[in-house]
Amino acid sequence: MDEQKTKTADRKVKDFLGRFIPEVTWNKLSSDICEQVIEKLKGLDRTGIEDDIMAFIEKKKYKIGTLSQANSGAGWTVFGNITIRPENLNDYLSPYVLSLILHEIFHIKRQTVHTRLSMQGELDAWQYQYRIYPLLNHGHEISEVYGRKSQQWQELFRLSRNSREDLERARDLMIEIAPGYRAYALPLYPFLQEIGYFLKRGDFKGVIEAMQNLAKGARGEKIERNTPRPA
Ligand SMILES: [Zn+2]
Repeated sequence: MDEQKTKTADRKVKDFLGRFIPEVTWNKLSSDICEQVIEKLKGLDRTGIEDDIMAFIEKKKYKIGTLSQANSGAGWTVFGNITIRPENLNDYLSPYVLSLILHEIFHIKRQTVHTRLSMQGELDAWQYQYRIYPLLNHGHEISEVYGRKSQQWQELFRLSRNSREDLERARDLMIEIAPGYRAYALPLYPFLQEIGYFLKRGDFKGVIEAMQNLAKGARGEKIERNTPRPA
């Protein structure tokens, strides 16, 4: 193989791996920037951030990297690291970006990978972000950085993580708040629990759809509602 072909093949492998392991293709932030983020978070009002989250921040085992991500503001990796968008590098100490980082820390610290990949896990993290944002910006509501979707945020905050109907509603609200967000890629409950739910009802279409949606989401395809709304 000539050099050009080897390079192209290398890039393809890298791109493929990068979809599952962002650390392969991300730009890792300098330790100086990570340090500033950690210091800023450590300086927050201690009364608002739970001990386990604070302890995680202080241990600072996580790393932050930038990665283009059209469908979400930030992300977590299976290695317990955090990704933000390159455009957010200009304001990484802003309340908005810090709230995204805390959202991801919440996923990593409090949830298993299965829970993170469910609407239940997302609802918990969005509600946490809603609760934490006023601590970052003098009591302001997070809707100020999401096109003032205050009503949607407030409704989202009141939804129950233990109701399928509420988790369905959460999908629609999240998309209203952040158009392009891939809420339909995720099962309502952690994957195996969701499969169990459909199997118990003999709903094999539901099983297949849940699997297909997760795969489509991983490939970056946009997914619309294809399951009927709960009765
Ligand atoms: Zn999330």
